[in-house]
Amino acid sequence: MHPREQTIFALSSGRPPSAIAVVRVSGSQAGAALRELAGAIPVARTAKRVLLRDSVGEAIDDAVILWFPAPASATGEDVAEFHIHGSRAVLNVLIAALSSIDDARAAEPGEFTRRAFENGKIDLTEAEGLDDLIHADTDRQRRQALRQLQGLLGDRARGWRKQLIDASAWIEAGIDFADEDDVPEDLARPAMEKIAQLRREIEQTLAASVRSERLRDGLTVAITGPPNAGKSTLLNRLARREAAIVSPHAGTTRDIIEVYLDLDGYPVTLIDTAGIRETDDPVEQEGVRRARDRAAKADLVLWLSDDHGGEPDQTIRSGETSLWLIRNKIDLSSPENDAAKQGQPAAETRQGTGERQFEISAWRGDGVDDLVAALTAFAEALLGSGEAGVITRLRHRNILRDAAATLEKAEALAGEGDELIAEELRIAIHFMGQLLGRVDIDDILDSVFKEFCIGK
Ligand code: GDP
Repeated sequence: MHPREQTIFALSSGRPPSAIAVVRVSGSQAGAALRELAGAIPVARTAKRVLLRDSVGEAIDDAVILWFPAPASATGEDVAEFHIHGSRAVLNVLIAALSSIDDARAAEPGEFTRRAFENGKIDLTEAEGLDDLIHADTDRQRRQALRQLQGLLGDRARGWRKQLIDASAWIEAGIDFADEDDVPEDLARPAMEKIAQLRREIEQTLAASVRSERLRDGLTVAITGPPNAGKSTLLNRLARREAAIVSPHAGTTRDIIEVYLDLDGYPVTLIDTAGIRETDDPVEQEGVRRARDRAAKADLVLWLSDDHGGEPDQTIRSGETSLWLIRNKIDLSSPENDAAKQGQPAAETRQGTGERQFEISAWRGDGVDDLVAALTAFAEALLGSGEAGVITRLRHRNILRDAAATLEKAEALAGEGDELIAEELRIAIHFMGQLLGRVDIDDILDSVFKEFCIGK
């Protein structure tokens, strides 16, 4: 039997141990699995409590089972669900029992979703939305993924595809009936107007979606500065846990530590870089090199200094990365200095440089709330509310950009021959098919579904 026709099974809930684990079975043998283990197939879509038994009658677990006959199931095939106690031992026995059923095997990553796609339950953009929803860390990512799963981009692509087919039909009619009298004189003109309008719509969608693509991955903020400036202390305060080793000895953080933050729904990866300074120690030199590298790629660099900290490294300053200067350890300032600073805002913009300045005590917490508020505003400015965009992946962007370029070519061919325009339209329709996963399936599918987890 071809692997695609075999029955698949997998743990679909989290890793054991857990209170309950859900094992899903999809394929023609799903009913056989229920009969074998539970004695009978229960009423469709109704939970039933049973004692599962293996082939020699030995009890496996007290479980709840569900039956979703094809085609009204998640995959479009017969689906059985076993809700068991979530220990490794119970799971192992159930998986062993399922493995002994003819033509049943463990599922590959994403295989349930792939079957749903192949059986027409969802299009490719919805499958991608499903994957994003499973991996969403913040509430904004969840909302964006859910819109995708509900077909926001898919519906738009289907609409474009249909209109392109209509425009193409008008052009083709003009070609086929060129010599006949009863065909309206100029079928090409409304078709060309339609093509121009669709091209504009696609370009607008691309422009509106720059931020929604970024929301999927989030921002990177690098904390840099000389050794002992308090970078790890700040990272720990921001992360509210002991992610980096805080030590009074210079040069402790030799590698890069990453901490993940959810700032009001915006995903931010915070990087603590090794103290940037000249050193002869080769291990530390490597840390410094990596720190510079990461900082150069970050969306924002926080340059931390204490009273002796001085100016940021020139290599950090270069490039398009935003740089904020943060003076740490203000708790050590003398009372006279503090009195002189009374009334100054905690955050200010240095004249002419566009860099922002903050004064904090990472250790005591002064000024950290202002810094977090500023980071959140920075993330919002770059990632947006996520409401406007519909494209979330480079795959979508590349296809739509090619589609818009093809339509532009078609527009430029006006008057040069309907056959040439019709050919460009066929290509544009093909692109919409690619977006929805209707054409060139094998190439695209393998790359999309390999990102999925097993059991999904
Ligand atoms: P890093 O090398 O930049 O990561 O610096 P650490 O976070 O390891 O801090 C170096 C030393 O400075 C440690 O002894 C910290 O406790 C201390 N430190 C960090 N932040 C502050 C602060 O705001 N005030 C004071 N007084 N000490 C701090």
